[in-house]
Formats: sequence, C-alpha cells, structure tokens
Amino acid sequence: MSFPFFQIDPEILAAAERAEASLRPAFSRIEENENYNQLKVLKAFGDNQVSESHFCGSTGYGYNDRGRETLDAVYAQIFGCEDALVRHNFTCGTHALTAALFGVLRPGDTMLCVTGTPYDTLQTVIGLGESNENMGTLRDFGITYRQVDLLPDSAPDYESIRREVKGAKIVYIQRSRGYALRDSLPVAVIGEIIRQAKEANPAVLAVVDNCYGEFVEQQEPTQVGADLAVGSLIKNPGGGQAFTGGYIVGRGDLVNACAYRLTAPGVGREVGCTLNQLRPMYMGLFHAPCVTAAALKTAHFAAALFEQFGYAAKPGSLEPRADIIQALELGSPEKLIAFCKGIQRGAPVDAFATPEPSPMPGYDSPVIMAAGAFTLGASIEFSADAPLREPYAVWMQGGLTYPSARAGVLLAAQSMKEAGVL
Ligand SMILES: *Cc1c(COP(=O)(O)O)cnc(C)c1O
Repeated sequence: MSFPFFQIDPEILAAAERAEASLRPAFSRIEENENYNQLKVLKAFGDNQVSESHFCGSTGYGYNDRGRETLDAVYAQIFGCEDALVRHNFTCGTHALTAALFGVLRPGDTMLCVTGTPYDTLQTVIGLGESNENMGTLRDFGITYRQVDLLPDSAPDYESIRREVKGAKIVYIQRSRGYALRDSLPVAVIGEIIRQAKEANPAVLAVVDNCYGEFVEQQEPTQVGADLAVGSLIKNPGGGQAFTGGYIVGRGDLVNACAYRLTAPGVGREVGCTLNQLRPMYMGLFHAPCVTAAALKTAHFAAALFEQFGYAAKPGSLEPRADIIQALELGSPEKLIAFCKGIQRGAPVDAFATPEPSPMPGYDSPVIMAAGAFTLGASIEFSADAPLREPYAVWMQGGLTYPSARAGVLLAAQSMKEAGVL
C-alpha cells in the first residue's frame, strides 16, 4: 500500500505487509471477540432501556439520577454481576482500586496479592516502601499485606496461594502485566486462582485489578468468581470518550460498601451528581469493544513488525494476550528515543512535539514518553513510554483506531531508520 501522507521507507512497508499477513488468524480471533462483546454491550443498552434522557446529567447532590443508576445497571449486566458503581468522581484507576480496598478491608484484616508485586501506585496505597508522610495507607490502618509471586513462567503458584490464603480477607489479582515483563492473566486462569483460593478459604473475597483487560476476552473476571473487579474509564471501558472516571463491579453488598468509601457512610451511592459526564461515559462504553480490538491489533502489529527487524516482543506477535500492553525490547537508549519520537509524529494531538527523556517521581532512571491524546493521560489512546535502563524496553498500549495507531508504529520504525538504528 502506498503512503502518500507520510514518508515511510519501502523496506518498512514491505515488512508491514509480511507482518499483517502473519497476523490474519490473530486478527480474526480479535474480531470474533469484538463482535461478541459489541452485541453484549448493545443488548445491555437495550435491556436497560437506555434513552437520550439518561444523558442529561444532574447537579448538586444528584439524588435519583436516572442516567447514573441506569449506567450502573448496564455495567452490571455486561460484567455479569449483581451491581456496579460507575462514576466520573473516581479520579483514576488507583482511586477506584483504593475505594474498593478500603471499602472491603477493616483493621486487622489481611490482603493477599497472588500476582507478584502490584502496579506501582498500588504499592503506595498498600503502604509498601518508605514514606515519612502520614498518607493513611492500608498499613496505617492496621491492614496486613502478604504476597505470593508468580512462577518464573508467569503461572500462578497455586500451592503457595492455597497455603497463604488461610486467614486472608481478600485475595488480590492483577490481570494486566502492568509495566512488568510477566504475562497477562487470561480470565480462565483468574477463575482457577479464585477456585483454588476459595477451596482453601471459603470466606476469602476475590478482588481483581481489571485495568487494561476489559473486553479483551469474551468473559470478565466477575463471571468466573471475582467478588469485585475494578478499572479506569480512561482505559478500555471508556472507549476513548469518557473524560475521566472509574468503575467497581461485583457483589451487591460489596459494591455498596465501596460506595460508602467513595462518598460517606450512610450517604453512599445516593449522591454524586453526574454534570455533563454521562453522554461520553455511555458513548465510550458503546465504543469500547471496537476500540479495545483496535488497541489489540495495534499491539500485535507492533510486535510482528519489530520481530521482522529482529527485536524481541513481549508478548510475541502470535501469542494470545489478556491485556492491551505490548513491550518491545529495543536494546539501547538511542533506539528508545528514536522510537518514541516516531510514535509522537503519528499522534493526532501534539504531533509537533518532541519527546525527551526526563526524571520521573518513583523511577530510578529517566523516562521518555510519547503520547498525543485527546484526553490527558488516557492510555487507551496510542502511547508509549520507556524507562532508560536495561533492558531498554518500550511499553506501548492503546489505539483509538487501527489505521491511525498502525501509522504510529510505522513512523516509530521510520524514525529509527532515519536515526540509523533500526
Ligand atoms: C492503569 C493501571 C492502574 C491504575 O492506574 P491509574 O493511572 O491510577 O489509572 C492500576 N493497575 C493497573 C494494572 C493499571 O494498568
């Protein structure tokens, strides 16, 4: 295919064609899930009689906001569970996860994470590491944290889980790889972890960090035994349209407990005006299966293209995946910088900007980030970031449309070619 709007080296275009030819079976699997999930979403909208009046939004206390209550019901149906709390008032995924953890855990309880070290921001919430600040972490509230690592092949360590789960209040599972080099967990594996954990401790509650996993498969963790699943609306389920927000779905009494934590005991979910946020939340959810499929295709394509040039992709281009994150081991700082400059050139917003490595709080090396998004920080939009340290890997995710994110991947290769490092 010729490329009249951007200069792309013919060698890269030829590699792209070979890459896509190799991906046909993977793409048709993605499209099968996309179709299934789109109809699931459509049915939930219809069954709950979504109408234009639901998009109006409320002000003040927001009592009896029909749009808000209906969106909760639509989410609950899609996630196959009793209840949902979908709010723009969740400022980010970490906030929603924090409301879920504080909603369920009480002083003296134990939280057992069974998927290794949790996502960076959650480590602070739990109270891992040193801090002189009085932040009110789980640890400050007398909640004990224990962890079972994944095995070297990313499989759950069932034996240790069954032993450690005794006496734990919650078993915590992170579906996505986050920014580690482990595999993402398929929903079936999450189901098996929960089955074994509950066999060893029937009282334990299963809480899943579902970030980056929504609509990747046909089932969600709440359909295989999770008592709560939590995520961000500027990732998959917001479909690139929600301005902000998060969700908690699962067992009715637990979702209510989380609502008391989000607002106040006694008040809970009765309050929370929706302003003008409902329309993008509904519309984003409607688009989410399609956008998630675009992001997945982009991840496979980037893996396959860079494998053509001899780089290691994690996961590999033909490996199935349970989240939308793709890591590429590029191997040097020059390559990371050239790659990210190319991604930026392909962004719809801020394409003129040049990303530069800079220090980041929480990182022990400079980080370079490429993103040009309609919504600040929305990682369902195509973006890439890389800490400048061994193994010099870049993590990329998202893509609102496959053709645009595909162009970004091609420009990343082109930029490396122009810098003489492809
Ligand atoms: C994004 C993400 C979170 C939450 O991050 P926020 O930046 O606060 O939205 C938590 N866990 C995982 C695995 C994530 O990918």
